[in-house]
Amino acid sequence: MSQSLEQLQKEFLYEKTNSCVQCGYCLPVCPTYATMGKETHSPRGRINLVKMVGEGKIKDVSVLEEPLDLCLGCRACETACPTGVEYGSILEAARAALVRRKKFSAPVRLLRKTMFKKVFPSSRMMKLTGNALWLYQKSGIQKVVQSSGIMKKLPYHLGDFEAIAPPAVSPAERKQTPVRVGAKGEKKYTVAFFTGCIMDAMFQRINRLSVLLLAEAGCDVIVVPNQTCCGALHAHSGEMEEARHLAKQNIIAFEKANADFIVNNAGGCGAMLYEYGHLLADDKEWADRAAAFSTKSRDISQVLIACGGMPDLQPRSGERVTYQRSCHMTNVQKVVREPLELLTNVPGIKFVEMEEANMCCGSAGIYNIVHYDESMDILDEKMKHTKATGASTVITTNPGCLLQMKLGIQRENLSGSVRAMHLIEYLAEAAGIS
Ligand code: SF4
Ligand code: SF4
Repeated sequence: MSQSLEQLQKEFLYEKTNSCVQCGYCLPVCPTYATMGKETHSPRGRINLVKMVGEGKIKDVSVLEEPLDLCLGCRACETACPTGVEYGSILEAARAALVRRKKFSAPVRLLRKTMFKKVFPSSRMMKLTGNALWLYQKSGIQKVVQSSGIMKKLPYHLGDFEAIAPPAVSPAERKQTPVRVGAKGEKKYTVAFFTGCIMDAMFQRINRLSVLLLAEAGCDVIVVPNQTCCGALHAHSGEMEEARHLAKQNIIAFEKANADFIVNNAGGCGAMLYEYGHLLADDKEWADRAAAFSTKSRDISQVLIACGGMPDLQPRSGERVTYQRSCHMTNVQKVVREPLELLTNVPGIKFVEMEEANMCCGSAGIYNIVHYDESMDILDEKMKHTKATGASTVITTNPGCLLQMKLGIQRENLSGSVRAMHLIEYLAEAAGIS
């Protein structure tokens, strides 16, 4: 065996592809196979492409770029697989190997470097982004821009996303975010809250409500200083070194809090935090600390249920509600029961499960921006099932899913009759907390 083939096998995790027995059980759950109809755009096809690299049958690895780029990384295939193929690890390693070889143009290189190294990891930059959004929305610039029609001319359909951006909080309100809140009544747990980068910039209200709900349920809550982005966007884009760097920074920050749990409210971030142990497993100095971090990592729904659920919810009057699951929460963290239990325990709602509830909505980080058309095909399927429930409220547990469902509602002209909300917003509304 030549050295280079050995190297390729190591880089592309060839060994792991050998657990695939080609049964095809993963095909029906794969959104890109359903909408694109090509074997190369299915889990089995993608695994085979990686396998062929490891066997020297594919010499030009750039042929893997499109099939792997178009994978949502939803990992529904992993949940469906009877032989336990570690598709997520194979995908991550292959993407990183492709990125190492890819010759990005100078502007793209600069953009990647800026976003991955300077913007997402910097709480100052993310706060500035949130404040800029607030200024844009409140100063009247948004109205002028929207009425000018310029938004329709922006690349990557950015105008569609601008219209569904959540209302940003003011800089003054942002400064009032509590850093420590005591449990209401008997204390059950001490928890360290993970704020996230995009959650902190654009969904700061949901973060604040999360802290208040945790306290209401019986937790002492610490919003840990010096935490940073979880690194999920980096890992999904093949920037593994930067993802590991951010993981280490978070491990240091959260170890100091010495809490019972590390709590997050975003399915995508939660999956990444849950996988720090796996991410740093080969790093002798960090493996144990990373594993300890992941063991403590919880979605907020798990902690609220562990506390006994939400007390004192006001009854709703027969509101029809459905739930769009976060893929990463379902397929990576394996958190399914708790958010549903919290939701269905809200008195007076009529909960209706949507068909194919496990299928991705097509958001997947920035997939809906960089692969807009493919993402909209997947979203259209999701909206077909959402509409069939007759629900007037769609609940999600991840910021990307939340924006995507808002986009779906907008595309279907349902904005007057259907709303999308994060589970935490819905529980806070039912608890009378604003
Ligand atoms: S991660 Fe999702 S989109 Fe990618 S192959 Fe698996 S099921 Fe298909
Ligand atoms: S990944 Fe799993 S489910 Fe899919 S073809 Fe291979 S063995 Fe079967």
